[in-house]
Amino acid sequence: MMFPNEEIRYEQLFRVTSKFHSTMDIDAVLEEVIKTLQDVYPSFEYTLFLAHDNTRHNVIPIKDIQQYEHGENTLVMQAFVTGVLQLEDSDEDKQSVIYAPLKGRQGVYGVLQINAHNGLVFPNSEIQFIELLANTAGHAFENAQLYQQSKQLIADLQLINETSHKLNSNLRLIDTMTFMSTQIRKSFEANEVGFILQTSDHLEVLPGSTAFFEKGFGEEYVTYSLERIMLENEPLFIGDLRDYREFGESSYRSMMSVPMVQRNEILGVAIVLHELPYFFSFDKFKLMQSLIHHSSLAFTNSILREELEKLVITDYLTKLYSRNHLEESVQDSMERDAFGTFILIDIDDFKGVNDTYGHQVGDESIVQIANLIRENIREHDIGARWGGEELAIYLPKVDLASGMAVAERLGKRVEKDSNPKITISCGVATWHKHYKETFKSLFQRADNALYEAKQSGKNQVVASENMITEGHS
Ligand code: GH3
Ligand code: MG
Ligand code: MG
Repeated sequence: MMFPNEEIRYEQLFRVTSKFHSTMDIDAVLEEVIKTLQDVYPSFEYTLFLAHDNTRHNVIPIKDIQQYEHGENTLVMQAFVTGVLQLEDSDEDKQSVIYAPLKGRQGVYGVLQINAHNGLVFPNSEIQFIELLANTAGHAFENAQLYQQSKQLIADLQLINETSHKLNSNLRLIDTMTFMSTQIRKSFEANEVGFILQTSDHLEVLPGSTAFFEKGFGEEYVTYSLERIMLENEPLFIGDLRDYREFGESSYRSMMSVPMVQRNEILGVAIVLHELPYFFSFDKFKLMQSLIHHSSLAFTNSILREELEKLVITDYLTKLYSRNHLEESVQDSMERDAFGTFILIDIDDFKGVNDTYGHQVGDESIVQIANLIRENIREHDIGARWGGEELAIYLPKVDLASGMAVAERLGKRVEKDSNPKITISCGVATWHKHYKETFKSLFQRADNALYEAKQSGKNQVVASENMITEGHS
């Protein structure tokens, strides 16, 4: 057999390197390398040993280099470990074998084995050529890997950035947790996500957790995680739960549990589960810790704020009464008066306001409506922030017709005076002492009426005509 001349050689090398520079696709580069070699030495046999077999093509057989760690083919291993090309000439079966490492700047990514029959001896120039090609493949591997890594890193940073940004905007607890949960499920591809708060006497599954946890199925995972976290003061990273006596039968195999900590105190734990073993990478584990760490403050703020809201009589934003106070006032009135009317108010399409103008303007809109409520009721009436963008009015000793009039008037004022322009929907319900009714049922009727108002096009008032739909029998 003849070896081709210099010029053709350079042409071939040029073809491979331009491929290499024009694509991040490692398969394409490998294919080009192999094709070139097959063009030049059609009678040789090629085998590729790769450290991480993440290629899909099938130009030549690919073997996993790990199989050779135990010394079956020491020259493959030697080329791989030292990064130096190995030559083997065997006189008996008249063949030469080259083991060319696929070497990049930072490591060796595999070994190309070339078997030449016919007792051929490779001249030095040929060996150099093969080495060049092998190194090109090595660099392609390295680039592809670095590219993947940096893409992942950027995605992780974006996730953390987006999350902290969102969490800093003072969301309600349910919004905070739902947001976190969606982020985690999305970026970890987790089957289950649970946020569990540990109070002095019980465990509380927070909103945003998947149904599995909300329905109480995940208790074994929660107790186990909390016990170990308390003991070791470290987050948990478990590759296969079935390795643990407690989880011999577990249908979930991978688990990451990260404590939610505030001022060195463990408030609870965030848990993600997957049904496959070794599903989460260590990088994901670090990312999860980072996410939980960043969100702990926002999350405790939300909890504290909502606990405070239960205690205070006035709402901090609107200066209207709090929900609790309104509820107590209705209960007092039900004992004292003959009748009264409850109005439940919900802003229409409020998500759109937040999305268009931001949360701050959203808050101001709520304040505008609160002010209009104050202007439209009398001294003994109670205007309250029911929660979020829902407001409520209680009118003691006022019947349904008058209550409807108040709600209608308010609706018109909001439509006319709000800026940015918004509208509200109202559900109105009246109780009467002839029909003993609880506050809960009164609220339920108003809520149903409000639902109807939303269903029939919003910006309107609907009355609950029937006095009692439930709670009286
Ligand atoms: P609908 O007409 O059906 O009521 O549509 P909507 O967009 O108003 O939907 P919904 O009532 O379900 O959602 C209310 C939104 O208001 C979601 C929540 O993020 C936002 N929100 C709740 N509380 C507050 C708050 O205190 N301030 C601000 N700015 N936004 C809030
Ligand atoms: Mg609402
Ligand atoms: Mg609304």
